[in-house]
Amino acid sequence: MRKPDLGAPPSGRFPVGLGWCKIRRRPMRILPALTVACILALPAQAAPRNDRLWAAAQEATPAAVETLKALVNIETPTREPAGMAQLGDLLAARLEGLGAQVEKIPAAAPAHGSVIVGRFTGTGKARILLIAHMDTIYPSGSLAKRPFRIEGDRAYGPGIADDKSGVAVILHSLSVLKAQGFRRYGQITVMFNTDEEQTSVFSGRIVTDLARKADVVMSFEPSTVGVEIIPRAAAGNGETRVIVTGRAAHAGAEPERGRNALVEAGDIVLKTRDLDDPARGFRFNWTQSTSGTIRNQIPDQAMISADTRHMSKAVLDEKLAQLAERLKTPLVTGTTAKVDYRPGRPGYFADAASNALIDKSVAVYREVGGALTPVPAMTASSDAGFAQLSGKPVIEGFGLPGFGYHSSEEEYVDLTRIAPRIYLAARMVMELSGQ
Ligand SMILES: [Zn+2]
Repeated sequence: MRKPDLGAPPSGRFPVGLGWCKIRRRPMRILPALTVACILALPAQAAPRNDRLWAAAQEATPAAVETLKALVNIETPTREPAGMAQLGDLLAARLEGLGAQVEKIPAAAPAHGSVIVGRFTGTGKARILLIAHMDTIYPSGSLAKRPFRIEGDRAYGPGIADDKSGVAVILHSLSVLKAQGFRRYGQITVMFNTDEEQTSVFSGRIVTDLARKADVVMSFEPSTVGVEIIPRAAAGNGETRVIVTGRAAHAGAEPERGRNALVEAGDIVLKTRDLDDPARGFRFNWTQSTSGTIRNQIPDQAMISADTRHMSKAVLDEKLAQLAERLKTPLVTGTTAKVDYRPGRPGYFADAASNALIDKSVAVYREVGGALTPVPAMTASSDAGFAQLSGKPVIEGFGLPGFGYHSSEEEYVDLTRIAPRIYLAARMVMELSGQ
């Protein structure tokens, strides 16, 4: 989770004061989703600090630092089976220790290890999904060069912010809630996945499925040091393919009978370069092409492929429609072209309910003097996008404020924010549970 970026903030808050929210007073008869909706309708003002929770969050800080150290000391590049299995075992044990029923979902290539899912059953209705990822971008051996260390208020180590801090905040928020005897949720599901740094090719579907079974999703990617941002959107990516069909003919004897798919594809490349539109957060660049099977035949097939990134689903749809429109008038008469958009990681765009939760998070963090700054969009993508395919409210950025992830600079987290972040996550679980 990285820099503030493009676009205007999506507008809209959950309407407040709706009559049907009074239904919340009959907790045994309401749908969990309605519970969440009603909570979202509460004004996002700072409430008095929960002193007991705040004390517990502060007391949890040394243990959370130890957890960060343990997590960083297991190297988990996405393609590293041994490290991923070791960390998965550790986290399964930690979740069981907190009282979860743990399921291990073995990953399929190109992922390794197992997705760890822990379920806590409470006495209430709300179903809350907490997600973070185990894998990092750092190859094995990085830890030897840059071992875990603490300097002042910073702890350094490969992947310590992204996303081992998210894992640690989840574990210690749950630990604090357990110590307080808090069980008013219906079910808390925790998911630690294996391949977020590789676009969650394996685990993306698991994220979406778990989100469908939840009422609300909190994602624990890191935030930023200094100004602690919380995003209202994150980029989506994908591949735009155009498949051109023509007619084959002998390239030397009777090329006139052919309909050259390669020439048509070339024309399409030239006449669509201007779809790239960074000012609107849309990147569209042709990167690959294939055509023909042999030199002496006019090709009847060609495929061109463009790397495609969007900050707004509406802009993506508009651009794909423009592309399709331009394909209607071919340069090479008799050829046809078809667009095949293949989504990668979906973008995350906070809807009204998610925006209300973001506002709620800002208010909760203020209870302990924290400042969350909502930003319109992030250039990075995250599993919040997969979670949002469920249609449920999703909020992102609940790991620790960190620096240097995905850069050539050394990665660290701000240790002074551990207690506020544990408080924030735990209080949000309480709010979402209807307390
Ligand atoms: Zn991450």
